[in-house]
Amino acid sequence: MPLQPPDIEDRIVLSRYPMLPQGSQHIRNVLNENGVTVADLIEAPWLEEVRTRGRLRLLESVMHKDGVDDSTTVDLSSDAGKMTETLSFLHAMLVVCASFDERLLSRWIEGEASRADGLFGRDSSNFTIICSSFLSDIKSENGGEEIYWVPIADFIELCPKISGSYWRLANRPVEGGWVRMDPASGENSRERTSRLLKERVRSYLDATCRERMEKMTEEFAAQFSEAVERITGVLALRVKEEMPVSAAVREDWPPCFESAISELNQGVNVNHVGRVFLASFSKAIGHTQEQTCGFFSGAPDYNPDTTSYQVSHIYEGDYTPNGCASLKTNARCPVQVGDDRLCDQEWLTHPLKYIRAKQRRRYSENGGTETTG
Ligand code: SF4
Repeated sequence: MPLQPPDIEDRIVLSRYPMLPQGSQHIRNVLNENGVTVADLIEAPWLEEVRTRGRLRLLESVMHKDGVDDSTTVDLSSDAGKMTETLSFLHAMLVVCASFDERLLSRWIEGEASRADGLFGRDSSNFTIICSSFLSDIKSENGGEEIYWVPIADFIELCPKISGSYWRLANRPVEGGWVRMDPASGENSRERTSRLLKERVRSYLDATCRERMEKMTEEFAAQFSEAVERITGVLALRVKEEMPVSAAVREDWPPCFESAISELNQGVNVNHVGRVFLASFSKAIGHTQEQTCGFFSGAPDYNPDTTSYQVSHIYEGDYTPNGCASLKTNARCPVQVGDDRLCDQEWLTHPLKYIRAKQRRRYSENGGTETTG
């Protein structure tokens, strides 16, 4: 990628494509000009539309395995529209980074890269400058239909990531260090070149997110915990048929969850709040209904039918696990000050934040390669 991408003055272009390398400065400008802080992005009522759009972008990436809808209903000619489109991208990226979840990260990146692929391929007016932002060079010839040529070095680096005979160098015309991107498979030359750009967008977003995750503190990530839980819940349901759901490993469990399980195992009676918490928390971290029912099998009043009925009620409903304050009030928080360093943190107000913080630590310890067991 060019070390110094070309300047783009047009703010509509920058707002439509915040995934461009020039996008990070544009995002900073939009934040400064509108006086928006991260705290505002999370909860200021006037930014609700930004969050809604961000959630939508995120949901699309998670739900649409085979491509996202790249059309936008946001009017980019207005300042408000430009701000919404730009900051919704930032909001979605921060939620993804704060999750420290590899599956969510790769889904979101795939979604944004596919969106870029579709939009770039249709954007004849800005295509050259977009190419110059992601490729070391670009040239085109116009003999009726515009045909693009890309430097051989870029092609060689990117083509192994794309399947199909079109993308093998032996099948492409090469001249003086340039590779000709002929129309094929119903796509014109611009759309074919755009497919190549998609790979650069993917690696650029991956590097950007990993850098953010490296720097993200537990306290910062915890601010996004609600949005993270919402999207990882959707993801867990979505991937159920595609791959086994990997719940957080046991060493990440907060003491309140661990103690509810071990008390039931020992035949100790856990109160109603503790039981509802156990089931809803288990659901939130990706356990199956069967796994959750299994936690109750040691209860003194265990009845498989009743347990299964009550657990399914929680799985089908919209239950959010109780926060620390409520668990403490209901005698379901087993720790005292000094027992657990994480539970002592002021920002640790919810057991789900505990799990995220543990996952973040493991992510850092493993050099950014693993988050869930
Ligand atoms: S402080 Fe919160 S997370 Fe920690 S054990 Fe108590 S309820 Fe659970």
